[in-house]
Amino acid sequence: MGMGIYPGSFDPITSGHLDIIRRVQPILGEVTLLISQNPKKTYLFTEQERKLLAEEALKGIPGVTVAVHEGLTVDYAKKQNARVIVRGLRAVSDYEYELVMANMNKKLAPMVETMIVFASPEFYYVSSNTVKEVAQNGGSVQGLVPVGVEKALQAKYADRVKDLRARQAKA
Ligand code: ADP
Repeated sequence: MGMGIYPGSFDPITSGHLDIIRRVQPILGEVTLLISQNPKKTYLFTEQERKLLAEEALKGIPGVTVAVHEGLTVDYAKKQNARVIVRGLRAVSDYEYELVMANMNKKLAPMVETMIVFASPEFYYVSSNTVKEVAQNGGSVQGLVPVGVEKALQAKYADRVKDLRARQAKA
């Protein structure tokens, strides 16, 4: 068994991410959910918030840890002696990006394999971006994200949704 790394933005963690990690943990034994911190990207949640939300959601799943990393995932993998990078695949649109990443990572770290896991059908349409889009317009994301994330999204967008509702009432 080789330790696995599941890297991503996790801004925020969704039920789709949770599904992947629950499914791969029994195969890999130990999995680190690695929150990438890219200074060029803008996130809704801070690094610390994304970490806390992931930790809360993953509490109780044995063999799973959460870490934050800035830089190449393969550098983290090498440092931790991890041999597997896990990525989830939803639609065909994910494919090209994942193919390029997997091959580049293979070039950089030949010992590390990328393991692609297909999203479960019920989470095919779930992404951090769509969930944020729905929440910021006051829609329900119940079941699409862990309960803690649902609350955090409501808190982040509370003022925005209040203003939106006021404008809708006037129109
Ligand atoms: P990134 O910014 O690296 O794409 P994400 O947090 O969006 O990070 O996603 C991390 C990984 O999880 C990616 O491999 C992505 O394809 C996968 N993923 C995202 N949403 C789902 C889902 N609903 N089901 C399965 N895999 C998913």
